[in-house]
Amino acid sequence: MKMTAKPIENLINQLNKLPGIGSKTAQRLAYYIIDMQQDEVEKLSNSILDAKLQVKECSICSNFTDEDPCKICSSSKRDNSTICVVEYPKDVEAMERTRCFNGLYHVLHGVISPQKGIGPANLKIRELLRRLEDDSVEEIIIATNPTVEGDTTALYISKLTIPLGVKTTRIAYGIPVGGDLEYYDEVTISTALNNRRELK
Ligand SMILES: [Zn+2]
Repeated sequence: MKMTAKPIENLINQLNKLPGIGSKTAQRLAYYIIDMQQDEVEKLSNSILDAKLQVKECSICSNFTDEDPCKICSSSKRDNSTICVVEYPKDVEAMERTRCFNGLYHVLHGVISPQKGIGPANLKIRELLRRLEDDSVEEIIIATNPTVEGDTTALYISKLTIPLGVKTTRIAYGIPVGGDLEYYDEVTISTALNNRRELK
């Protein structure tokens, strides 16, 4: 017979669904939350709901934002001749942390993966091509991760952008094959960016 109270069990189960949270950690967090002051718990649960309800995709770059266009797309200080293409919003964060890129971004929200049934139409590639109709864009830097899917996606995009006369580059990787931008430090990412090569 299970001795855990049903609401605690529910909380553990929900936390356990989060990435990187195993059942032990979920249990520890659940009991921690129950011990917290009620107003602190309310702040936590409201912030989760607010984030979900208020964050949407920027109509230009598809990054997560609470204002449209996002701060980067609407900034007059950014160089709008260069667009860095990344897989996920978290990769924009990683690039911004390096402070070595001052252009704009385009978030694909995934990569081409036949195994997972994700094709080009599921990604924000059409939206990217639409942005290229604006003559101000001179270079596309493809910063998808150095995985099979990331490379496939980079190749797919380059086949569409190169004929449009847009210089298309792929960031070099001090990052090992199979790596993930999110986990690398500023120096590694900025080196990768500076050593990017042109796709032809
Ligand atoms: Zn934007």
